[in-house]
Amino acid sequence: MDFPTRAVHAGQQPDATTGAVIPPIVLSSTFAQETPGVHKGFEYSRTGNPTRQRLETALASLDGGRYGLAFASGNAAAGVVLKVLSPGDHVVAGSDLYGGTYRIFEQVLRRYGIDFSYANPNDSAAFAPQNNTRLIWVETPTNPLIQVSDISAIARQKGAALLVVDNTFASSYLQNPLELGADIVLYSSTKYLGGHSDIVGGALVCSDEAVYERLKFFQNAVGAVPSAFDCWLLQRSLKTLHLRMESHCDNAEAVAAFLQAHPKVERVYYPGISDHPGHAVAKRQMRRFGGMVSFELAGDLNAFFRALNLFTLAESLGGVESLACHPASMTHASIPAEVRLKNGVKDNLIRLSVGVESATDLVDDLDQALSRAP
Ligand code: PLP
Repeated sequence: MDFPTRAVHAGQQPDATTGAVIPPIVLSSTFAQETPGVHKGFEYSRTGNPTRQRLETALASLDGGRYGLAFASGNAAAGVVLKVLSPGDHVVAGSDLYGGTYRIFEQVLRRYGIDFSYANPNDSAAFAPQNNTRLIWVETPTNPLIQVSDISAIARQKGAALLVVDNTFASSYLQNPLELGADIVLYSSTKYLGGHSDIVGGALVCSDEAVYERLKFFQNAVGAVPSAFDCWLLQRSLKTLHLRMESHCDNAEAVAAFLQAHPKVERVYYPGISDHPGHAVAKRQMRRFGGMVSFELAGDLNAFFRALNLFTLAESLGGVESLACHPASMTHASIPAEVRLKNGVKDNLIRLSVGVESATDLVDDLDQALSRAP
């Protein structure tokens, strides 16, 4: 079935007992058993919950995977993947990635004797595993420089390592990493999957049963699960993912074209632009180029942020409303300045999450704010 049909129907059969077209939220933390171990499929909601199970079915379906797992946040999902590591293991990750992921690697897991190295996202060969590499961690498009890594090329050389793709910026509508050879797809569902800036959540999707069993074991063991209410709300959001993403892409293309022609803009980062280094790969592995646009401003940043009316200065992304963010002091503040600058994240970089408002209004807002940034 096509994506929009799966978005609306996967995991959403009417409730068997009442016929409710929208299945009710099951808030119960525990479930009755006839005799020990004999029950209707659920024991305790950390381990499994009917509302979460419906969401997990939908998540798997949208990525063309066999198994989905829902989490309390994107970082909780990342934490569970990283539980497969043991002291002495190595992870190679792209050098441009979400600051919170970098923080888990460097400030949490290094203390457990796990080694991390960082590859240029544009150089597939740089992701080649060494003998002790257990995970290859690819975020594409990247946060905040919207760089593109070639998932198929990296998958071809992965050997015994597991390839994890953080698909948060693309969403399952624009990119399906499992089809390109990835083993695990990771989401901050706080972003496009949720789409309304009112849920914090995370997700993993995979197709290999052994990988799933391992992740499922850790999901239950460490208990990083979302509430039934958040699962229900996220499933509601998934039903319009394809509609929202088309609008995000339309608007981001208009914003990128406007910024490119503006004299106060030094550089625009958007994979839809034909001279973007990842344009050809993005064209091959993504349905469209996404809703995230970054740019370097030749002007007073604070004056620009203060002058914005429609774009709100805030962390996060992927909601229907447009947001602006200053990575150096906000989302990527946990990366030491010298590392951040080496990776190309300058102090004048602004990241836009382009929402689904009118493209004309969004461009007008940026235009008037740029004119107020001396
Ligand atoms: N991955 C990416 C690419 C992100 O941008 C974020 C958050 O901004 C995360 C993961 C972490 O997700 P969460 O904030 O839901 O824990």
